[in-house]
Amino acid sequence: MADENRIELTVVIPVYNEESNLEPLYQELSSVLSATPLSYEILAVDDGSSDNSFKKLTEIQHNDSHVRIIRFRRNFGQTAAFSAGFKYARGTIIVPIDADGQNDPADIPRLLAKLNEGYDIVSGWRKERKDNAVTRTLPSRIANWLIGRITGVRLHDYGCTLKAYRAESLKPIRLYGEMHRFIPALARWGGENVAEIVVNHRPRIRGKTKYGLNRIFKVLLDLITIKFLASFSTKPIYIFGGMGGLCLLGSLLSGGITIYMKIAQDYSMNRNPLLIVSTMLMTTAVQFVLMGLLAEILVRTYHESQDRPTYVIEKIQEPNPATGSQES
Ligand code: UDP
Ligand code: MG
Repeated sequence: MADENRIELTVVIPVYNEESNLEPLYQELSSVLSATPLSYEILAVDDGSSDNSFKKLTEIQHNDSHVRIIRFRRNFGQTAAFSAGFKYARGTIIVPIDADGQNDPADIPRLLAKLNEGYDIVSGWRKERKDNAVTRTLPSRIANWLIGRITGVRLHDYGCTLKAYRAESLKPIRLYGEMHRFIPALARWGGENVAEIVVNHRPRIRGKTKYGLNRIFKVLLDLITIKFLASFSTKPIYIFGGMGGLCLLGSLLSGGITIYMKIAQDYSMNRNPLLIVSTMLMTTAVQFVLMGLLAEILVRTYHESQDRPTYVIEKIQEPNPATGSQES
């Protein structure tokens, strides 16, 4: 290594009760990484494991100064582990990988090569997935299709942990819920180039999976959230106002029919259920508009308090003082 302080590559590993998987994964990883010309670090995020994972990591770190460990106070979830890992990563390239050995470290050089072709993110595609068909592969197929449709970013496999990111495209993204899988979509919306390559996938041999079927609902709700944020986060009144407008229209229509039935057919307005429909829709319309205005206040607070612009600049090109003045 030429410069001890400069790290080119950070491998981020989220770890939750993976004691039996850490040593084998570490062996594989370090043989792959030491064969690359890059200076690297391995950043393990212990997501509040209750087994001996932290002890194992400490033992590994004892013999290898490439290894850094972040330990959470309790289990905060895989997305939170990524969030911390990405924040404290020192490398200019960041590669997350599962701790259970299902991702193959041997794919890392291929991801990096693809990144060097000029992409900001290269996502792994577990084309031949070695997981339970009913609880994993099938739901994930449907989810991937849906995410592709809704986000407009077409990838085959959003859920694959193994990806390669340029640090600068990752650092501005804040992660909540189960959202790490949406990073490519979020990044593409910000103007980043995203590619996908097929990676190896292996069955889990040790330890057990940490997820059940309830992850599907979380992912779906997150999808609605990011779609909403992406489409309307700067102008929420447009969507709320639109829905309010529809309700108002329905209310007027239903109220109009009530009055017409009273005049033309002498049908009592009190007994007419359409009167209730009209009143309810009117109330809802007002509520929608008020919600929209509240959301407008929230959005302003969000952007202004964090100094988050509503656009992404690629670069600002100033005139070159050596080649003459601006005014000429
Ligand atoms: N993981 C984590 N925190 C959690 C759940 C999982 O850090 O709360 C880690 C886990 O240790 C593994 C990765 O996330 O490295 C993927 O988990 P798992 O293999 O259980 O998911 P699956 O491959 O079944 O989707
Ligand atoms: Mg797994």
